[in-house]
Amino acid sequence: MFSHLPPAVTIYEVGPRDGLQNEARPVPTADKVAFIDALSATGLRAIEVTSFVNPRWIPQLADAADVARTIRRVPGVRYSCLVPNRQGLERALDAGMDEVAVFLSASETHNKRNVNKTIAETLAAFEDVIPPAHAAGARVRAYVSTAFGCPFEGPVDPRAVVDLAVELQRRGVYQISLGDTIGVGTPVQVRDVLSRVLEKLPAEQIALHFHDTRGTALANILVGLELGIATIDSALGGLGGCPYAPGASGNVSTEDVAYMLDGMGIATGVDLDKLCEASTRVASLVGHEMPSKYLKAHLGERARGERRRAPTPSAEPTTKTGT
Ligand code: MG
Repeated sequence: MFSHLPPAVTIYEVGPRDGLQNEARPVPTADKVAFIDALSATGLRAIEVTSFVNPRWIPQLADAADVARTIRRVPGVRYSCLVPNRQGLERALDAGMDEVAVFLSASETHNKRNVNKTIAETLAAFEDVIPPAHAAGARVRAYVSTAFGCPFEGPVDPRAVVDLAVELQRRGVYQISLGDTIGVGTPVQVRDVLSRVLEKLPAEQIALHFHDTRGTALANILVGLELGIATIDSALGGLGGCPYAPGASGNVSTEDVAYMLDGMGIATGVDLDKLCEASTRVASLVGHEMPSKYLKAHLGERARGERRRAPTPSAEPTTKTGT
């Protein structure tokens, strides 16, 4: 069995940002707000609501300030947003955000294509964002994309990931989310990269952001849990797809993560039925089925009038039909 698992995990919901930015069909601002308000009612404690990128880059998120100003803020829920630069930070702060996230990649080519800067230039530019954010009383998170593989360069040196994590911590971010941007990571690799990072940084300062593009996200998350990671990024329904593999799954689904954690006796505070309700509504907004496996099972059971819950860790093994 597992040597030690965290008793509680924070699910960091990224669907409104990382999900919607990759959806083809534009979602009206009022529907985004309703989506975020529905997420706030599920028991989630951290929701990334939008990105203050230049609207020319990602037109889907041009309404960032309206969304940030209009959502209903539930006490106990942290609301965050992505900011690419000083201008984005100013817009976010003006819109009342008190948690922001910066981002860069562990591989040069992806970083260059994503933000048109080298990694060193990106880190230098964080000086225009992180200290002013702190001065304004905002918390800052950081994303390290392509931490487990790059769509352009292939394998990524784990030492590059460690060096970036150390550098970001030195610059004062409260948490670093290691992203498997293209969903290529596998459990032994994740253990290798993460163990190296955890030699330098405490587990509380690390989050994991997996994509289920090749079906390995939950296995990778399990490795993270065993190493003491207690913040897991996910998107409702698995919203968003993968820009590098059209039609493939992207972000691991919040329902799938919540189901697994619930069944393992790890507290998340999240109500799975409410997640599924919200997810079903989002499916109609974006105009396609959500990839979430738990959601599909849940909807199928509901259609048949059944109700099933994760077996508790102490449950007696049962004989099941089918495989
Ligand atoms: Mg993602």
